[in-house]
Amino acid sequence: MPPRDQSQKLLFRSARNAVITALLRNEALSRSELSEITGVSPAAITEVAQAFLQRGLIVELPSQAGGRRGRPIVQLKLDASHSCFVGLSVGEAKTPLVITDLRGRVLQHQPLAAYKTPSELTEAAGEALSKALRTASIPRSRLHGIGIAVSGIVNAGEGICRYSAALNWKDVPVARLLAKALHLPVWIENDANAVAVGEKFFGRARSLKHFSSIILGPAIGSAHYINDMLYRGHDGSAGEIGHITIDPKGVLCRCGRRGCLDTIAGGHALRDAAKAAGLSATNMRGLEDFALHGSAVASRLLRSAGNALGFAAASLVHLNSPQCLIFTDIEGFGNGVFRTAIRQSLENNIMARFLGSTQVVFTDADTALLPRSAASIAAFEYLNSI
Ligand SMILES: [Zn+2]
Repeated sequence: MPPRDQSQKLLFRSARNAVITALLRNEALSRSELSEITGVSPAAITEVAQAFLQRGLIVELPSQAGGRRGRPIVQLKLDASHSCFVGLSVGEAKTPLVITDLRGRVLQHQPLAAYKTPSELTEAAGEALSKALRTASIPRSRLHGIGIAVSGIVNAGEGICRYSAALNWKDVPVARLLAKALHLPVWIENDANAVAVGEKFFGRARSLKHFSSIILGPAIGSAHYINDMLYRGHDGSAGEIGHITIDPKGVLCRCGRRGCLDTIAGGHALRDAAKAAGLSATNMRGLEDFALHGSAVASRLLRSAGNALGFAAASLVHLNSPQCLIFTDIEGFGNGVFRTAIRQSLENNIMARFLGSTQVVFTDADTALLPRSAASIAAFEYLNSI
């Protein structure tokens, strides 16, 4: 290949990224379809496809008749088994370590031993990874990185957990510690951002350029894709809707202020409030069941939580005009008073012009959601780097 100048390299890089994105969004595409979808010239598509075929990143599917003048059509497809990624979620919820393929599908789950300190996490992750590889007969050489979703404030560029209230960690260089122990590249990300990246590359937001992902967990998190880019803000903490003030005279929040959204709608706060009211609900499904069976207290707690969340989400819609709001239910509320109140509050607090144009989706998360999302960060970074 002739030497390339800088502009040729940039062109190749942008053509390559466009091809990867198109192949992630579609099961298989021909070279001419790739050119049509990406707007990249047929010559550049041929060059990129050749490079990917040589690396084994894509495969050619057996040709089918039906092209112009009866010429066979050869389709290209990402080879999902080309590489694997490890996903971990760091926070208070107990989640497994997962191994995913290149298309974000989980190949193996492995329970992670309990940990409190960074070194305990490193040890637990090492043990779980070895077991997972052994059980699924995945060679270590197929692993290309580890993604970690952290419940807290993260400096993704430096791989540092700035603060996690859940673990009481401050300025922990999580990526460096894990990379050193497990000999793999490691990327960390705030958990809400990780879920948004997972939805964007492998989930229901693949075709969306603008969307907000809201996590209904022990605390409320959110992340935003704006014009196909994850929006981080100047210091990486964009999307902290959990600390929007809803009631200035409300309950004291972990952040030191009063009446944040987290203190009204976070799973933690709801559990505490239910306990204080004498309800023995250990999880949010239980609280919804109390409401379903006529408990006025449970209904009031869930309604006020949903109202507050809908109010904050309506503000997000006014600020960013997303095509879709994706609520990810980690606490297990299910379809009940809470979701209904969120929908009603959104409708009451949103301008009419946004109502018909903003899709609202609720998804039930399983325990693998956060680690699977974390692995998608590693897959995304890997695909960007090749
Ligand atoms: Zn707060």
